Amino acid sequence: MPELPEVETIVRGLRKTVAGKTITKVHVNAPHSLIQVSDSFGSKSFADVLQKRRIIQVDRRGKNILIALNGDITLWVHLKMTGRFVHIEYNHPVNKHDLVIFDFKSTCTNRIRYHLRFNDYRRFGRLRLFHNDELWLQKALANLGPEPLEISRDEFISLCRGRTRMIKPALLDQTFLAGLGNIYTDEALYAARIHPRKITSTISRKKLYELHGHIQRLLRKAIRLMGTTVDSFSDLDGRAGRFQKYLLVYGREGMPCTRCGTTIIRKKIGSRSAHFCPRCQRLRSRNTIH
Ligand SMILES: [Zn+2]
Repeated sequence: MPELPEVETIVRGLRKTVAGKTITKVHVNAPHSLIQVSDSFGSKSFADVLQKRRIIQVDRRGKNILIALNGDITLWVHLKMTGRFVHIEYNHPVNKHDLVIFDFKSTCTNRIRYHLRFNDYRRFGRLRLFHNDELWLQKALANLGPEPLEISRDEFISLCRGRTRMIKPALLDQTFLAGLGNIYTDEALYAARIHPRKITSTISRKKLYELHGHIQRLLRKAIRLMGTTVDSFSDLDGRAGRFQKYLLVYGREGMPCTRCGTTIIRKKIGSRSAHFCPRCQRLRSRNTIH
């Protein structure tokens, strides 16, 4: 699933390619569950609402993409597992997983006409249209925790020490901290030498201080390298990310720890799997919830 750096890569790509442009037509080839239009638009379809709208700006909140349109409307996109945007030549053959196609008004500087496609082979992605005044009332947005790149060190320490839950599921919980997923939580916990089952309130201030630093460092580096591609992620031009070369635990089960040589293990913690080094990331039993 695309996490914060991958979504940020897409957002930056959208800003560069379609921000400021006017949508002329939208072709929908998607199941109804993928496209949602708020009741406040009456009987208008997704394509009807978007037609002739101009993209004012593109923002990210956690793993959510918020495309602001004129008329106080926002197109809220969640890529889920395999959703992606592709900025591609108009006459490039349409793939059966190109579920929504956005045409734009061409300008005289456009030598080759491009359009934007939302492609999703697993079809879990969501594209939703809301009026701005109702957007932030939506639970999935309203309940988001702080942004990992914006939260201060002290706020992060209070957040963790104020709860009693295992650190790995906490970091994955979007209402606790928004934007992290399996890859970057595993990498950050490894870097800070914290066991994924460690209870947040029992982690020392010093360790949390380190963890905060590692989370921000890893996310910044991953954004610089245009994300991590372990499955299908690519940027708007179809290029893979480059951060996967720097993964030290994620996807490395059975391989030696780069610090101590112990075999990296993968264990189910909560409902997700965690990769970690059992030697570098030790756990004392009194800190575990069984
Ligand atoms: Zn180790």
